[in-house]
Amino acid sequence: MTMANGAELNSVEMLKARLREAGVRYVFAQFTDIQGVAKGKTIPLAHLEDVFLPGAGFSGPSIWGTGLPRHGLRSEYYGRGDITTAQVLPWLPGHARIVCDGYVGGEPFDLCPRQILRRQVERLAARGWTLNAGLEPEFFLLQRNADGSVRPADAHDHLEKPSYDYKSLTRQQAFLGALTDALQACGLDVFQIDHEDASGQYELNYHYSDALTAADRFMLFKMAAHSIAESLGMVFSMMPKPFANMPGSGLHFHLSIADEAGGAVFTDRSDAQGLGLSRTGYHFLAGLLHHAPALAALCAPTVNSYKRLVVGESLSGTTWAPAHIGYGDNNRTMLVRVAHSRLEWRLPDASANPYLALAAVIAAGLDGVARALEPGAPFGDDAYELPLSVLRERGLGQLPGNLGDAVSALEADTVLGEALGSAFTAEFCRFKRMEWIEYSRAVHSWETERYADRF
Ligand code: GLU
Ligand code: MG
Repeated sequence: MTMANGAELNSVEMLKARLREAGVRYVFAQFTDIQGVAKGKTIPLAHLEDVFLPGAGFSGPSIWGTGLPRHGLRSEYYGRGDITTAQVLPWLPGHARIVCDGYVGGEPFDLCPRQILRRQVERLAARGWTLNAGLEPEFFLLQRNADGSVRPADAHDHLEKPSYDYKSLTRQQAFLGALTDALQACGLDVFQIDHEDASGQYELNYHYSDALTAADRFMLFKMAAHSIAESLGMVFSMMPKPFANMPGSGLHFHLSIADEAGGAVFTDRSDAQGLGLSRTGYHFLAGLLHHAPALAALCAPTVNSYKRLVVGESLSGTTWAPAHIGYGDNNRTMLVRVAHSRLEWRLPDASANPYLALAAVIAAGLDGVARALEPGAPFGDDAYELPLSVLRERGLGQLPGNLGDAVSALEADTVLGEALGSAFTAEFCRFKRMEWIEYSRAVHSWETERYADRF
């Protein structure tokens, strides 16, 4: 049962009756922390109205990335339900989910990722535009070893080039089928599932939607996938690069903009470059490329993200990960692949908070449009084949090589920082800088193996 739209649903009492009829006894009032992790609390259905006013209450400083104090009015974080998101959860009998927006001191909280995305969506709406986004989740199904390390759950899945393998895909049908059924019951139109390019790696695609809905749905996808994998004794992993010798997992965004009449703003069939892109499409794309180093901090926000974003050999031959700041016609070796007049933004991985990553993409694209930035010529070659010196000569920049450099790039990008809110940007950079420093201070086995007895 999907509780979307419909004026008659705009009443909490009516919603309560509908949920009761559907066998719901608990509502999970859910929000997303700065790390993109689902958080919330369970509210018995009898108290449904509390989810809307004052909202589900949380201790602010107990939530990562809020920067809220330990005492006083501003120490309370309220998640106020968005009634249009009420949704029965098929994998969790008797439960529904309501997505919440963050409020502090009775006002929309300026560090709440969903509020941050709402503000960027409003900037588009002021132009009569809707950004549609198709998020493409890649993931691993893993098993935990006794020592805490992980391995692909399917011991038989070890082809060197496992993409699209029938046997390895269908061996996981218990998980993939249960996940698909659950998502379909939630109104997500799943249209394909495949085995990706690493052992134990899969991708499941469902239909695109407006940016806010796309972020809400991606969180629902993760919640369903974690619960279903756990019930089958597996670990669902969206870690960007779990195995050094295999490709990592991306979360590509397929982006397009519709105008008020439903027209495709990025499309122009008479495009002289043959990519079918309008001038606005090129400007938006140029904004993404211009802000790419800072966008990396939000779209690839973990230490591990930068182990995915390297060019090099893998067991299957390539990583398919973007490292060069450029674009091309159906070119998967670029940061932006243009296909069917849409922009495939290949930078994100699923360690990103989807609200923040989408908000940042909108802010960067709108800056490109506002300043009529140009992206240069499309790149028509396989960038993986060319040496760095040639790529530089041909005008391609490089993404930051690690989380620390990405955070520095975001700190230096005042346009993006101000669009997302200076308080948020400062807190995000502080939080991610801490992660980078903590990692940098750790001594890894790679180092001890090389250096312990060398000098
Ligand atoms: N796994 C690749 C990545 O990390 C993408 C593969 C593909 O193009 O589907 O971006
Ligand atoms: Mg893929």
